[in-house]
Amino acid sequence: MANTSQNSDRPSFAIFNGKTIPFEDAKISIMAPGLTFAVTVFEGLRGYWCMDDSQLYVFRMEDHLKRQEFSMKLIELDDPPSSKDIARHIMNVLHANEMREDCYIRTQVFVDDWGDMVATSPVSSSVICRARARVDAFQTGKDFVIVSWRRNADDASPPRIKVSANYLNSRLAGLEAKRSGANAIILNRDGMVSEGPGGCIFLYRDEKLVTPTINDGILESITRNTLLTLAADAGIEVQERRVGRTELHLASEGFYCGTGQELTPINTIDGKPLSDGKPGPITRILQSAYDDLVRGRNKKYLHWLTPVWPDESREG
Ligand code: PMP
Repeated sequence: MANTSQNSDRPSFAIFNGKTIPFEDAKISIMAPGLTFAVTVFEGLRGYWCMDDSQLYVFRMEDHLKRQEFSMKLIELDDPPSSKDIARHIMNVLHANEMREDCYIRTQVFVDDWGDMVATSPVSSSVICRARARVDAFQTGKDFVIVSWRRNADDASPPRIKVSANYLNSRLAGLEAKRSGANAIILNRDGMVSEGPGGCIFLYRDEKLVTPTINDGILESITRNTLLTLAADAGIEVQERRVGRTELHLASEGFYCGTGQELTPINTIDGKPLSDGKPGPITRILQSAYDDLVRGRNKKYLHWLTPVWPDESREG
């Protein structure tokens, strides 16, 4: 299969070092440590268009920026942009591209120019956005396999830091799964379930929603946190605990989640169907609760939504 190219979705404008410029003009040095050593922290966010109030909402922007601050602190950058700066850049890129539909936003902060692997400056930053609709797999679900690669450990290349360098592990896992037409589930060094290449794993077992802990080799996912909250609201019992490999086969349903994947039902694991191999009822309840939340229909969590357009210009 040909590589899927996202060229057609390229935005007209990017924010590069705080300035709004044509996307094609945003260029970095070929010797930038952000490239040569993947010294780049990033966040992927989604914006959701809400028909009812003709508004685009960025989902949990503050929490993404807080995580990015933590990542920047850990990899040690000189004078990085503040969360306030990046929040402004996000709004600027959405305005510049006239974004009025579901979209994806990518922020990056990295060491630019030329340097060794401990270079802490000069720091550059970028923000882009592009239209991105709901994942198709939201409805259909996907097949998963447990891959032979193990999750990078917290004392080696910590998954808690959202840094590009960590994604070699995700890539190797993803490539192995792709060879069998599936998606990856990665175990950690102890052989316990950690997560997938770009999202967290939930199982439903014995009437409890179960997910690995934040110390099992996962990114502290904002979607995971959201779903734990929504599950509690729905009266579903939740357990954050170590999850054994064999439990994957005891589950009656399961799903994969993250900003990109949203909630992707898990149909099969290693060729074995969970129940009947179709998205289960608890997954459907949480998908619907998630959709209500991100589109502003759940008034309890409006504080998680940042409106993009001022009232008077919503109609565009
Ligand atoms: N784990 C990994 C490795 C990821 O890359 C992502 C995507 N950011 C997630 C989990 C899900 O995190 P979030 O819900 O914050 O997008």
